Amino acid sequence: MIQKLKKYFGFDSFRPLQKEIIEQLLSKNDALVIMPTGGGKSLCYQLTALLLPGTTIVVSPLISLMKDQVEDLKNSGIAAEALNSSKTDEENTLIRMSCLAGEVKLLYLSPEKLLSEADYLLRDIEISLFAIDEAHCISQWGHDFRPEYAQLGFLHEKFPNTPIVALTATADKLTRQDIAQQLNLNNPKLFLSSFDRPNLYLDVKRGYLQKDKNKAILQYIKKRPNESGIVYCLSRKNTESIARYLSKQGILCKVYHAGLSNNIREQAQEDFIKDKVQVICATIAFGMGIDKSNVRWVIHYNLPKSIENFYQEIGRAGRDGLPSDTLLFYSLSDIILLTQFANQSNQRDINLEKLNRMQHYAESNNCRRRILLNYFGETTSTNCGNCDVCLNPPKQFDGTIITQKALSAVARTNQQVGTNLLIEILRGLRNSRITENHYDKLKTFGVGKDVPARDWQDYLLQMIHLGYLEVAYNEYNHLKITTLGAEILFGKEKATLAVIQREEKKETKKKTQKIDFPTIKNEDLFEELRALRKELADEEGVPAYLVFSDKTLRSLSNAQPTTLSDFGLIHGIGEYKQNKYGEVFIECIKKFINKH
Ligand code: ADP
Ligand code: MG
Repeated sequence: MIQKLKKYFGFDSFRPLQKEIIEQLLSKNDALVIMPTGGGKSLCYQLTALLLPGTTIVVSPLISLMKDQVEDLKNSGIAAEALNSSKTDEENTLIRMSCLAGEVKLLYLSPEKLLSEADYLLRDIEISLFAIDEAHCISQWGHDFRPEYAQLGFLHEKFPNTPIVALTATADKLTRQDIAQQLNLNNPKLFLSSFDRPNLYLDVKRGYLQKDKNKAILQYIKKRPNESGIVYCLSRKNTESIARYLSKQGILCKVYHAGLSNNIREQAQEDFIKDKVQVICATIAFGMGIDKSNVRWVIHYNLPKSIENFYQEIGRAGRDGLPSDTLLFYSLSDIILLTQFANQSNQRDINLEKLNRMQHYAESNNCRRRILLNYFGETTSTNCGNCDVCLNPPKQFDGTIITQKALSAVARTNQQVGTNLLIEILRGLRNSRITENHYDKLKTFGVGKDVPARDWQDYLLQMIHLGYLEVAYNEYNHLKITTLGAEILFGKEKATLAVIQREEKKETKKKTQKIDFPTIKNEDLFEELRALRKELADEEGVPAYLVFSDKTLRSLSNAQPTTLSDFGLIHGIGEYKQNKYGEVFIECIKKFINKH
């Protein structure tokens, strides 16, 4: 196993559970694999396929996913093909013929193709294993339900002696049971791996107004030149306005959402995957088809509606295991909007609870990774050292007076205002809405002038979360004082608030980081190798990360191998890539060494 792992994939060791899963499949038993995004699920069936006689059938829901994996395998010297509707009949016929000749180790099929070939091609070839990737698509409980997946239950009936492995990153128990049941898995062994992704830095910023968010994002991207990233938004409109803003500022970016035509969407995805654009501004429609391993950062422009969504989306960063950054913007208006959505949905209580947990994450004064892992049922006793809370513990202050100002203003308007109007009153703004309602005559008019509007947003959010104020969702989102709030207002209780931390003073983080990742020792060489990688990838028409991962490039620029055998020792370089790319890369490294 280890030998093949190095020979074909260039890796020296397995990730957690991979070896055990492969052993289970080699002994012809079923398995259900739950691993986070980027955990390394594909390798489990790909290596098994190489170790067993015959062909492994991989079922995958998206053509783009199949294409990516087949290209990747071919570029590692492994015989892989995909049968799907995007190919011509001639192409598909040729693939069928090589399958019949026993020349294909991995055959990727859409679920429709699997159904239609079950009594034809599949009967005539030796099948070593069925791998059902993105298996949550089979469950109506999951978020990507595909009706075609629901018909896969027949596999064991028709192929009783062929093992099945189902793989997904969706962790919840209901979906898990549903997958095993619907696929009629035979006493499947459950492999549930840790959901921790220690290479992802977790950061939350609160109380930003829209234009401040845009500016902050621009700065963020400028600090990461050449690094691919995703900005997730709640609405299509937002994706477009941010993309417009970033484009104007010279950032290469594209938009992706369900309102665009298929062609435009596919082009955007392709451009992102092939590093033709640096940034994609997308709704949650974007992601499942993305196996791009060098996404270096993910920003959430808005709060996601659940931790599951959030985790899956940030999981698209750093698949290669290198340090990657995630940033969540958290604002009061998101909470109000998402609560409305949840209230109107047909699973109101569940959705409200999920949102609540998401909010809890965003507001926490405790290690954020612990909250996430806790949510997935994993408890740890240590703080992660790689989130904003760990690196910059929030400070608190006696916020009684500021809270009283807000509560008093709410009381004097007879609790008939929402947050924006309340902030205008507190800040003493004179506009028609204020004067018509005579709010400028209130005793509290302008008492909060000294606090900037965006800080008020943040403080009000804290007051809501601490239970001093609540939002009346059925009454134009007006703010109401709770019993607890009344006690603060009348001086019976004190309010403790968190000091608002702005990014300006936060950039010292990396120094204190506990986790030690290999750093790039030679930035210039790394960039030269990166350029060479892009050139080769463009020539071949494949994404750059399929030539070499960022991790491999880093190892190359650090180790600077100048012989073919040293080159082959580098992480991610198997025999095939050693021979294919060795010469050009070694030449580039030698040139660099001579110059310096
Ligand atoms: P997912 O579980 O989301 O399907 P993938 O199978 O796409 O994850 O793997 C994510 C990344 O991890 C890929 O770039 C892959 O090459 C890498 N990877 C998988 N197994 C190993 C390993 N044993 N050692 C190093 N990298 C690995
Ligand atoms: Mg996968």
